[in-house]
Amino acid sequence: GDGATVPALVIGTGYGGAVAALRLAQAGTNVEMVEMGMSWDTPGSDGKIFPKVTSPDQRAYWLRTKSKAPVSNFFGFPIDSSIAKYTGVLDAEEFAGITVYQGRGIGGGSLVNGGMAVTPKQSRFSSILPSVDAAEMYSTYYPRANAALGVGNIDPAWFETASCYQYARVGRKHAARSGFPWTFVPTTYDWDYMKAEQANTVPRSALDAQVMYGNDYGKKSLVKTYLASALATGRVNVSPLHRVTSVAPAPAGGYTVTMEQLNTVGTVVATKTVTAAKVFFAAGSVGTSKLLVKLKSTGVLPGLNGEVGKGWGDNGNVMCGRANHMWDPTGKLQSTIPCSGIDNWDAGGAFAEVAPLPTGIETYASLYLSITNTTRRAEFSWNPATQKVDLSWQTAWKQDSITMAKTIFDKINSKEGTIYRTDLFGAYKVWQDGLTYHPLGGAVINKATDNYGRLHGYQGLYVIDGSLIPGNTTVNPFVTITALAERNIEKIIATDL
Ligand code: FAD
Repeated sequence: GDGATVPALVIGTGYGGAVAALRLAQAGTNVEMVEMGMSWDTPGSDGKIFPKVTSPDQRAYWLRTKSKAPVSNFFGFPIDSSIAKYTGVLDAEEFAGITVYQGRGIGGGSLVNGGMAVTPKQSRFSSILPSVDAAEMYSTYYPRANAALGVGNIDPAWFETASCYQYARVGRKHAARSGFPWTFVPTTYDWDYMKAEQANTVPRSALDAQVMYGNDYGKKSLVKTYLASALATGRVNVSPLHRVTSVAPAPAGGYTVTMEQLNTVGTVVATKTVTAAKVFFAAGSVGTSKLLVKLKSTGVLPGLNGEVGKGWGDNGNVMCGRANHMWDPTGKLQSTIPCSGIDNWDAGGAFAEVAPLPTGIETYASLYLSITNTTRRAEFSWNPATQKVDLSWQTAWKQDSITMAKTIFDKINSKEGTIYRTDLFGAYKVWQDGLTYHPLGGAVINKATDNYGRLHGYQGLYVIDGSLIPGNTTVNPFVTITALAERNIEKIIATDL
């Protein structure tokens, strides 16, 4: 509560925050977690906690009055609709050159993501985190993260028969005919539940168009894994609808953390302060970077070094669709959880997930989210005129990612005699080049922090989320964020407590 003193405070309840809270609590430390979003535990009048991607309502978006869907058009027509302003689960946060999608609520990005739980190839790890011992990561911390996240593989025999993965089988066929390596990817979805959804013996979520505005049943979000274990220790308290605005050195030691309590239309209803001996920044790449850049620039934490705010990347995200022939339907029932990818990283710099388009009708479309090896990096900076943090990303930089993604899809199109869809992201627009789901960097490890996430300049301040990773993970990022957090918190508990 207001005025309290706590040994450890964690800002944010996504992957990094959940790992920190669990391991600190298991080591005997009481932990206060502060989360700006809601606790998603109560069904609405429709009996569901979350809306479908096909019918967003107020629960879908963080404080917007109109939806902002990544697939914004259909047959060229805009599909976004008016919604009531509410502290919804998905934030489409707009910077000058890019919209950054992020989860809001207890569980962070695990509430809204596709559950693709991919460990990068070890041969590529040194390009991701050059200062981190790869052998240790692959022997200890990736296995620990995968186990605690409940990562599992699809049953390959069932995959061949399930109508909800016809789109993925079409994706495999096209990749194979063009000579590209195709691979299953593990997920955090409960695969037995998925089978039961296909058999229609349980309430559907992945097979009922639930994903980026939340999933009611089968996905093992952090609420079911790390956060459940953390709460079970009895040493962790979580405050939803509280947004941290400042972390300042306290006169008697430790840090004074200031936070605003919000109501569900985003109005500040109270301001509170807590004093914490240790503060863990786990507000996500954007949330942590924005806080640190503001605090350094406004003189609250002037001793942070010049690396703060730098090294930000979009994981090379770019989306496209292909128009298949009428004899190649992708299916009207599509699981929202992707289970496969095309790996052309070494040859062309692109790893493409075969994504669903869960409209409920046959679209003859194949949709792909590519992760590409772009070297573009942006910087966060404080804008005194607007009193906000800007990001220097430019939309034109996505051309590098498009060029890499085209190494896959130009070839498939020419082999199949097909074309790109031009109706999904605006009229006559082939590439969705205006967004990322995978913000990374802004407080890079071994630069803004030491090699374990301790912020330079301030004892007791730590970064433990995606902002530690310099812009790219070669695959979907949350397993790497989790594994790195496991590595760092083990060291911090052993040496700093
Ligand atoms: P987050 O998970 O973003 O957690 C940060 C938390 O801090 C949030 O809950 C936020 O509300 C809170 N917060 C922020 N600022 C403050 C503040 N000032 N005060 C209090 N709280 C604050 N990754 C994959 O690996 N596989 C996928 O399939 C995948 N699909 C995705 C699909 C979508 C639609 C999106 C948006 C993301 C997807 N991702 C996926 C990305 C993945 O979810 C993120 O990389 C991951 O969640 C980042 O973890 P984190 O711990 O850095 O931060």
